[in-house]
Amino acid sequence: MRSGIFLKLMAAFLVVILAAAVTFDVTLGGAWQASLRNEIERNLVQKTQLLAHRVETDRSGHSLADIAAQEAQSAGARVTIIDPAGNVLADSESGAGAVENVAQRKEFAAALSGRVGEDQRRSATIGTPFLYVAAPVSGGAVRLAYPLSDVEAVSLQVRRRLELASGLAFFFALFVAAIASQWTSRRLERIVDGAARIADGDLQARILETSHDEIGRVAGAIDKTARRVEQSFAAVRSSQRQLETLLNSMQDAVIAVSADGLVQWANQPMDRLVPQGTRLQQPVVETVRDPDFLAAVKEATTTHEVKTARATSIVPGRAFDVTAAPLPDGGAVAVLRDLTETERVEKTRRDFIANVSHELRTPLTSIQGYAETLLDSTPENGAPTREFLEIIRKNSGRMARLTEDLLTLARVESGETRFESEPVPPAELLHDAEESFREIARSHGIDLQIQDLSLLEGLPQVLADREAIHQVFANLIDNALKYGASGGRVVLGARSVPHAVEFFVQDFGAGIASEHLPRLFERFYRVDKARSRESGGTGLGLAIAKHIMLAHGGSIRAESDLAHGSTFLFTLPTA
Ligand code: ADP
Repeated sequence: MRSGIFLKLMAAFLVVILAAAVTFDVTLGGAWQASLRNEIERNLVQKTQLLAHRVETDRSGHSLADIAAQEAQSAGARVTIIDPAGNVLADSESGAGAVENVAQRKEFAAALSGRVGEDQRRSATIGTPFLYVAAPVSGGAVRLAYPLSDVEAVSLQVRRRLELASGLAFFFALFVAAIASQWTSRRLERIVDGAARIADGDLQARILETSHDEIGRVAGAIDKTARRVEQSFAAVRSSQRQLETLLNSMQDAVIAVSADGLVQWANQPMDRLVPQGTRLQQPVVETVRDPDFLAAVKEATTTHEVKTARATSIVPGRAFDVTAAPLPDGGAVAVLRDLTETERVEKTRRDFIANVSHELRTPLTSIQGYAETLLDSTPENGAPTREFLEIIRKNSGRMARLTEDLLTLARVESGETRFESEPVPPAELLHDAEESFREIARSHGIDLQIQDLSLLEGLPQVLADREAIHQVFANLIDNALKYGASGGRVVLGARSVPHAVEFFVQDFGAGIASEHLPRLFERFYRVDKARSRESGGTGLGLAIAKHIMLAHGGSIRAESDLAHGSTFLFTLPTA
């Protein structure tokens, strides 16, 4: 780094020095040379005019050759005197006539035409540059030739000095560049070291540069960034620790899997669940081998949707409810809830209800039987005995229905009742129901009908256990007759929906207020308790219907328009 900065500084200095030297040479050197030349020129013009004057006045006193020699000596220049034809009359350096005709020389041509003429050229004989100035005199012209070799020598000397100064400046620059590069590179190296430490994860590393120049500002910016990253990192670590503690304190097992199926993280309950422990960064199948669990995780990863499953082979004899949710950057996180205890409690509850119902059946049948026998043997006018017996019979009948319904519900819920599903045309199910209830409905003064028979022909067959579906229709039609009788008619029907057929039982009675609709299928939920009891209801009919539908892979719901009647709809999957 040091030599890089040094070389760059040197190159810059060199360019500056060269540019300065050339500029000096061109501007100052040139100007100085020009002013020297002007000075010489002015002098020479004066001297030439003085010479001309002397030639004019002293021609009689001295010969032209003498004048030329004297003047040449005093002016330090060559003196030439010519006649109007250009023939040399006297010359301080060669004799008269020794030089060819000079009338055509620029300065003489001007002087012969009456003006002071000047020219500068190299002497053909000596080869050095000369400044020639000629002035007219009567009967010819005079000329002084001054050698300019001095000017050239001085210029050369100036250039030498300039070169020497540049050389000195260069060495000085070398020294300055070395110190500057050393100083700068030392500061930059500190910044590079600091940045490298931060990049390697040492977020507490600081450069701590005190200067406020550009380099200082860069160091300050890196320090500030490191401080910010350190703070954010601390916040992330703290929330990560909180999350870890939270996840570890959960009862449910949690495991995170990357998009390529490797275990990323697992909480402690997960670790305890699998005998070999969680294998981080290994395929998830090495930790959990349950196919339903693996399928849910894979599906959540690929579809980016929450998937649920029931896994029974993670730990022998235990069942888990698996919820796999996709992670934002690929992969999924799965939560495993142990269902064993819940299912055991649920089973105990169901068994208890079934057992109680079963146990109550016999004594209730007996009470009913004896009450009826006693009623039969009591004379018509035997009040109040007859009235009491009637009450006993009615209530024991109600209890018998209740135990029967509870038993049915417990058996359907537990899966004890096996449904024999087979492909059945929807029309047949509707006809069976209509046939069974037509007369009962009529006895209630209600018209029971199937809606649009022609529509049913085109419907696909559904997978259903005829008897069970008959039971569902029975419960719904019974309710329609009990609670929707005021409408005067009940309509049955079916229509096609995607992958299923939807059946419905519609009455035109008082309807059900919307707040009751979501709870209608709960056990013992009744809108009007007194009315239900009076009509012999148990509050279990819809709950039984719901469980039968769930066992068929279907669903059931209710729609109602208060004062306009209710519609109960259930779907059965197509065969
Ligand atoms: P219940 O033996 O009381 O009829 P269900 O489970 O069959 O029990 O029905 C639950 C409650 O839903 C009933 O008590 C009644 O209040 C209401 N219900 C059911 N069907 C209808 C209907 N067609 N019209 C109005 N209310 C109804």
